[in-house]
Amino acid sequence: MASPKPEPGDAIAELVESLLAELGEDPSRQGLKATPGRVSRAMRELTDGYGVKPEDIVADAVFDQDYDEMVVVKDIPFYSLCEHHMLPFFGQVHVGYLPKGKVVGLSKIPRLVEVFSHRLQIQEQMTRQIAEALNSTLAPRGVGVVVEARHLCMEMRGVETPGGRMITSCMLGTFRRDPRTRAEFLDLVRRSA
Ligand SMILES: [Zn+2]
Repeated sequence: MASPKPEPGDAIAELVESLLAELGEDPSRQGLKATPGRVSRAMRELTDGYGVKPEDIVADAVFDQDYDEMVVVKDIPFYSLCEHHMLPFFGQVHVGYLPKGKVVGLSKIPRLVEVFSHRLQIQEQMTRQIAEALNSTLAPRGVGVVVEARHLCMEMRGVETPGGRMITSCMLGTFRRDPRTRAEFLDLVRRSA
């Protein structure tokens, strides 16, 4: 029989074992034996965005280009954990920017979203961090980020109706200053495929 104890030295697994006992569970019962180790691995994976620098992600994928029309990547799925309850919030991120001589490889934008969502977060902060990361790495004319998400800490505890979404946005540069640019972006985001 495998030991019901977590691997020695895995502090998260040991904490989860204590948590299970505190909740009134028997951490040594069959179904829970491997749970502390699993939770530890899951938590480490879901928070692996700490310490990753946005500039390192986009470093090899920023290209000089004269293109000066709006670039929009929409419906980027994300899964994060709220920093108040460590419960999931998840949904879609829509990103737009107006290049000023530099564009970024499109696959890097979802990767940026992943880095900021794989931390304990609040939605407003994550929205701003994604916008500021693009702003600092590309120095574009402007950036817009819209995040739509469901928060399980509110839905599961009955604070909010299940399925309700919270929408946040961050507009920088021309997206903030120019109502037409902002409207063009929001129109592209709202338009279904
Ligand atoms: Zn919460």
